[in-house]
Amino acid sequence: MEKADSYLSVKNLSKLFGKFLALDDVSIDISAGEFVCFLGPSGCGKTTLLRCIAGLEVQSFGTIIQNSEIISGLPTSQRDFGIVFQSYALFPNLSCFQNISYGLENLGWDKKDITKRVEELLLLVGLSDHSAKYPSQLSGGEQQRIALARAIAASPNLLLLDEPLSALDAKVRVHLRQELKSFHRRLGLTTIMVTHDQEEALSIADRIFVMDRGKIMQFGTPEDIYANSSNPFVANFIGMTNFIEGKVLNEKVIKIDDKQIDFIGHGFAKGTKVLVAARPECIQLSKKITKNIFNGKVADVEFLGSFLRIYLETSIMPNQRLIVDKPMVGDFDKSISVGDVVGFKMLPTHLNVYECDE
Ligand code: ATP
Repeated sequence: MEKADSYLSVKNLSKLFGKFLALDDVSIDISAGEFVCFLGPSGCGKTTLLRCIAGLEVQSFGTIIQNSEIISGLPTSQRDFGIVFQSYALFPNLSCFQNISYGLENLGWDKKDITKRVEELLLLVGLSDHSAKYPSQLSGGEQQRIALARAIAASPNLLLLDEPLSALDAKVRVHLRQELKSFHRRLGLTTIMVTHDQEEALSIADRIFVMDRGKIMQFGTPEDIYANSSNPFVANFIGMTNFIEGKVLNEKVIKIDDKQIDFIGHGFAKGTKVLVAARPECIQLSKKITKNIFNGKVADVEFLGSFLRIYLETSIMPNQRLIVDKPMVGDFDKSISVGDVVGFKMLPTHLNVYECDE
């Protein structure tokens, strides 16, 4: 699936650690200037994939092509990338200036050029006043900005970020991810970020590669992956989803419990057992209960600032509570309370349907 404009292509990459298959025939294409995230649960292989691209890990099979050159046989030192790790990895005994200039000195840059470049980078990451400070004198967020400046000092064409925000506290993390995004907009540098945080990936990436057990489960824009998750794993990992069991009645109708919902184009044969995936914000509640709509009893209500999260006990999900998110508008939302019996509808345009694997 190499695209004509692909800047980085990973082709049929596998990585074995002993007998353990950490990457299983992974193929991806990334265009020049894209910001992509490798997203998945702990142990899914995202760091291993990033490390193979950097040459810090040697693949067992497969090829990596960067800018039309096969790089998978090259040592790290001959590859064109900058990298930022989760744990900053700054030299503690060097000042910010020296941390950034270190690589440039090794490349034999002229002293005057180094000073000019480091000052430019310190300005770019907003830390010009901290040039003489040591890493221990900086906050976590500041250290990570210095690590970023160091990573791009020699103007690489590829930036690799290995969970760069995960050691930071929640507020700094959100702030720095916005900075990373605007930084990317300004420089247009092809960037790959590894993260296990779906919110982070959704908010920052042009495209997301969702991984599980060494495989790419789906890739696409954040909006596409969220709205059209191609399998239950992705639907569950990205955001929240209610899974409701049903059975296909015909090409347009799925039966859930004793009721029917319209779902045109589900593509499953009559009688197929399916899982209907409904996002919490796509369920409409009503106080009126009629024969044709589902109903449930409010088991819990959480106030989450701009919206309410309502947990319903309903016969269509016998083992779990149905989760409904409602923006706080109107009297109905304010008056809803535990014990109420309410009706609900699932908006067919916002549902996904998967075959049950039994
Ligand atoms: P996390 O978010 O926890 O860092 P990850 O998705 O980045 O997870 P990897 O670090 O890529 O996961 O690891 C993938 C799998 O390969 C894990 O099961 C891990 O234990 C295993 N693994 C990674 N490095 C090695 C190694 N050097 N030797 C043996 N197994 C390894």
